[in-house]
Amino acid sequence: MAITSILKNPTPKLVALISSSIIAISTLVVFIICKIMFTGMPDWFIVIIATILVFAIGYIVVYSLVERFIYRKIKLIYKSISDTKLSTEGTPLKSNVKNVNLIEDAEDAVLNWQKSKINELNKQKKLDKYRKEFLGNMFHELKTPLFNIQGYLETLIEGGIYDEDINLKFAKKASKNVNRMAKIVEDLQMIANLQDASYVLAAEKFDITDLINDVIESLEVRAKKKKNKLEIKEGCKQSFTVMADREMIHQVLNNLIINALKYGKEGGKTQIGLYDMNENILLEVSDNGIGMDKDQIPRIFERFYRIDKDRSRKLGGTGLGLSIVKHIIEVHKQTIHVRSTPGTGSTFGFTLKKA
Ligand code: ADP
Repeated sequence: MAITSILKNPTPKLVALISSSIIAISTLVVFIICKIMFTGMPDWFIVIIATILVFAIGYIVVYSLVERFIYRKIKLIYKSISDTKLSTEGTPLKSNVKNVNLIEDAEDAVLNWQKSKINELNKQKKLDKYRKEFLGNMFHELKTPLFNIQGYLETLIEGGIYDEDINLKFAKKASKNVNRMAKIVEDLQMIANLQDASYVLAAEKFDITDLINDVIESLEVRAKKKKNKLEIKEGCKQSFTVMADREMIHQVLNNLIINALKYGKEGGKTQIGLYDMNENILLEVSDNGIGMDKDQIPRIFERFYRIDKDRSRKLGGTGLGLSIVKHIIEVHKQTIHVRSTPGTGSTFGFTLKKA
């Protein structure tokens, strides 16, 4: 068993040993035959010395030839692996072939290379799946309002335009669907802009409490409709100056407060808290609404992801609001987190740099 496994994985030394033994034995046999045939009995001392010499020379020659051959092959593989490996900056690493113990390191290098290729492939597969899912969702989201518009327009063209009972109603419905499509395209455009590496923030110093008050004022009618109390939390009224893109943070607050109102309780409470964290400030938007399960939390920032699709659509949501929020916070190099309990409510918190 041991011999067969050794023979299955021969080392250069073993190959040299076997072949030089064969050469030495053959030489010995030839030598003995010659001696016997031409000069009678051989001189054993000379025969043994000659055989040892043939064995030693054979071993050295075969060993160095095999090793050179293997080194050459491995060197090539090694080189191609290390030359295609990228450093963190994205530039090819210089192959350091001369300074490494090739035979010993090659196996490790090939295994590492294989692992990194498998990781890359898995990442690529995940990205592909994500892209397919995203495209599927996008077509679905755009198809629904598009087909609705088509239906309303056809009905109007086929005579509905003269029917006082439906003409204005259908025109308004078509317009509502156009607005929905426009909102989806606008939101997608915004995400694409934020994902663009060349996107530049228009950061400025501003009073965040003023901005919160502006957003509260603009959403007051909406809050009143739901009998929701929308306010800055007691004890958080101190003003802070932050360094950020005002328009973008306006959008973040708007999206988070609208969600708090949408998924909040009728007659509930939406509170905005502001906390000093030395270099940063922490902003929290809390509601006492439907909340969500722990396992849903990581997914709500994905494009088009909604826990309850029908409910979200009825409330006019595109499923892109939180994705926009996440991207805006990320381009500010800040963080966002969520705490939520089903039936109790949710708190969305994000940080901003103090000016
Ligand atoms: P939508 O347009 O559907 O509101 P968002 O991206 O803003 O899209 O939110 C994604 C999903 O996260 C929502 O559909 C909802 O299920 C969940 N969600 C967001 N905010 C809250 C909240 N304050 N309370 C409970 N669920 C929320």
